[in-house]
Amino acid sequence: MLRHRTYLRESADVDITFKVKILPFEKKLYGVMIRYLLRKLKVSGIKVVVRKKVMKRAAGYINLKDNHGKTFELFINANTSYRLAARYLAHEIVHIKQVVQGNLSKEGSSILWKGRVVSDYRSYLTRDVHDSMPFEKEAKDGERIADSFWKSKDFKQAAKDDASIAFIFRIENS
Ligand SMILES: [Zn+2]
Repeated sequence: MLRHRTYLRESADVDITFKVKILPFEKKLYGVMIRYLLRKLKVSGIKVVVRKKVMKRAAGYINLKDNHGKTFELFINANTSYRLAARYLAHEIVHIKQVVQGNLSKEGSSILWKGRVVSDYRSYLTRDVHDSMPFEKEAKDGERIADSFWKSKDFKQAAKDDASIAFIFRIENS
């Protein structure tokens, strides 16, 4: 029962749903990874819906909505290594944090950063404008957090529970 309570305490604040066709062990791996990143980046009280389709040229993606609520669609790039996918997820979770904190928002066709219009949405999707946005630098810096996952207790525990994850654990830590 203690184990169950611990599990509830850890996960009570974030609800993750997978709407993506990936192998069961990958769901488990990404679930542990996303929870780890949310905890590291101090994001809580949200619902995450994980999807797979990633836009052309984008490594990762979240759906920015007007009047964003508590539910975030987080797109994973499953066509890359787990190590890179983790970095892209960390990048997107920084954006989720920016939205949760009220710093980043979309209103109609405008992107707002700290209450100021910094771009229109269409331009934002072009590489030059995208890369010049102040919130992108923050997200880029946040990608490094993902690398600590591969040495974490969370990953180690998941490897104990699942033979396929144990295989990845051995590769990442050899
Ligand atoms: Zn970004």
